[in-house]
Amino acid sequence: MSRRSEEIASLDTLRERWLTAAREGPPRFPACAGCQAWSWPPTVVCPVCGEGRWRLVSVPGTGLVRAATTVHRGVAPEFADEAPYRVGAVALDDGPLFLTRLDVGVHQGSRVRLRWRDRPGDGWLWASAGA
Ligand SMILES: [Zn+2]
Repeated sequence: MSRRSEEIASLDTLRERWLTAAREGPPRFPACAGCQAWSWPPTVVCPVCGEGRWRLVSVPGTGLVRAATTVHRGVAPEFADEAPYRVGAVALDDGPLFLTRLDVGVHQGSRVRLRWRDRPGDGWLWASAGA
């Protein structure tokens, strides 16, 4: 994990820069500036040591799906039309556990790579087969 990145104390700034990195690649995730613990989703203070400063650290964007399930009802109105869809917990290589959408054909135990998917007004990193 690199210690050379800028320290960030604002959660809004952290989210904005995470989104930019997610769109443009490589993905970067917050690690505590004090103890280097990963923190995903971002929190105001580190759940391990209580520090409130973060660094965004580049990760390979590959990992292993530890758990997967199918969502039959969208958890928010904007997802209702997409149901049923797959979600899973991806243990990123040299990164945090990341909950995300799974492409068709991705299951528990699959090796995956995170890829940005645009949505109207936003987007997200999805896990696709082929890491
Ligand atoms: Zn910490």
